[in-house]
Amino acid sequence: MRHCYRVQITLCFFVLLFTACGPSGSPDEINQNWYKGNLHTHSFWSDGDEFPEVIMEWYKEHGYHFVALTDHNILANKEHWVEMKDSLRQATFQRYLDKYGNDWVDFKSDSGRIMVKLKTLDQYLSLFQEKERFLILPAEEISDSYEGKPLHLNATNIEQLIEPQGGSSVVDVLQRNINALMEQRETFGKPMLIHINHPNFYFAITIEDMIALQGEQFFEVYNGHHMVYNLGDSMHIDTETMWDQINIAYLTSGKPPLYGLATDDSHNYHTFGNRWSNSGRGWINVQADSLSPESLIRSMEQGRFYASTGVELVNTEVIENTIYVEIADSTNSYRVQFIGCLKDDSKTRILKEESGYQASYKLNSDHLFVRAKIISSKPPVNPIENMPYELAWTQPVVFSE
Ligand SMILES: [Zn+2]
Ligand SMILES: [Zn+2]
Repeated sequence: MRHCYRVQITLCFFVLLFTACGPSGSPDEINQNWYKGNLHTHSFWSDGDEFPEVIMEWYKEHGYHFVALTDHNILANKEHWVEMKDSLRQATFQRYLDKYGNDWVDFKSDSGRIMVKLKTLDQYLSLFQEKERFLILPAEEISDSYEGKPLHLNATNIEQLIEPQGGSSVVDVLQRNINALMEQRETFGKPMLIHINHPNFYFAITIEDMIALQGEQFFEVYNGHHMVYNLGDSMHIDTETMWDQINIAYLTSGKPPLYGLATDDSHNYHTFGNRWSNSGRGWINVQADSLSPESLIRSMEQGRFYASTGVELVNTEVIENTIYVEIADSTNSYRVQFIGCLKDDSKTRILKEESGYQASYKLNSDHLFVRAKIISSKPPVNPIENMPYELAWTQPVVFSE
């Protein structure tokens, strides 16, 4: 049954492609693959507690295809020494030295004080990067602030460090950093991506702030750090409701939709639980023609990805205004909610809910947008908040004439 459904979608997809492309259609529009990645990761280059090589090993071994190491206001491209100043760091260093050896590890030891020179991205890249298997994207977390509010944005696939730009309000600070990335993208003529991080971290970024931005297409609907309040609190709304409200504002004013990412924001690689920021909590899966920064970013800008805290999809596509979702796992049970907003409405609602492993929803011209939320019966392995089940979110879809 599931396979029939899949074949049907695939056939339909190919028929449409051939019809749409004709003889001049680009062959790379066919053979679309899914690539799993995390665009928010910290290491010893800032406040993470592990060496980049060990972090990359973890992600590669856990089936990820791409990772961006996004340390605070730094790119791993210069000489940088860190002190192994406590027993946890010293144990981490010893494991690193045992694994990578004296020829690779650059360190100094003086009267019990151990200093280690971190490897640059150019140095460690070749240990992990593999065509169509694993890609590391140069990135940083631009860590700015306004009147004590932390304002963080991740800049991915950049050539040069973007220093925090500052500004005269929350919106101004965010906008100036977004503009700095756009300028760098223009200068180098290559795709780069900027996304707003954890809006509810210290409740620094409000819906109104996000609505006022120009040119921002991405934010974290889920972040795996333990202090980010994805679910809000008694005074603040959750990031998913925020997402919908922003999209209602964006789409009614003619802006493109805002897409939602899930990320780890991992810092802690040795202590685990809901008071620590661990790997594996949130990721994205991108449908692209190849594992390259250009393909991934192009697909993401078209909304061809989903965000997940554990749910894996075989496929999700939009064909002739119909959203299709097919879930990979068949051991747990699933609900698929199609959440959308009708034109002239001021909030989203659940338009349809289906149980099972496949679901679909057809948009019409009355819809402002529709997205799918997939809810597993399985609890998350290492949750930070009271999210009882693993989830996935597909991106908002707008009816096309
Ligand atoms: Zn941050
Ligand atoms: Zn971070």
